[in-house]
Amino acid sequence: MIKARPQDAQQPLESLLALSAPPLRWSDVLTYAKYGNPDPARRLLLSEAEWAARLLPAQFQVLRQARTEPPYRNAYCRSYEPGRYACAGCGQVLFDSAAKYHAISGWPSFTQPATRGALRFHFDDSHHMQRVEVRCNVCEGHLGHVSADGPAPAGLRFCINSASLRQAPEGTL
Ligand SMILES: [Zn+2]
Repeated sequence: MIKARPQDAQQPLESLLALSAPPLRWSDVLTYAKYGNPDPARRLLLSEAEWAARLLPAQFQVLRQARTEPPYRNAYCRSYEPGRYACAGCGQVLFDSAAKYHAISGWPSFTQPATRGALRFHFDDSHHMQRVEVRCNVCEGHLGHVSADGPAPAGLRFCINSASLRQAPEGTL
């Protein structure tokens, strides 16, 4: 827990809240998937036809049809440029490059979301596997999955499709 000090007073409230928020843990993910996710500050819910008109085909297949892009042959798998990653569907900031790490999975991997309320979690029993699906909390677009085999301290591994993300250089989002 990072406590606010007097010299932090000039910082925006939002950044102080983000710093002081406890990290998301596997028990939190399971609780959200089982009992419901936090309400987002805004929602963007469109028809599938509207999404098809708005998104590139590869983005539509991942975000709206929950497809998985090929491992390694995707934009952000090996990219470690500093900056933030927003949802390709609605622009919500989802991840920060500071939480990105090399998981050797073939997809971009993160240990934490940018903020606690950015994501929503759902149990996914498709493909004969028991997984936890990760979606954008604003537009409910499919992003990927989260598992409990990530690095310490929180132990989470967010395995996310590049096509669901749009990276913006540091300071622009
Ligand atoms: Zn979104």
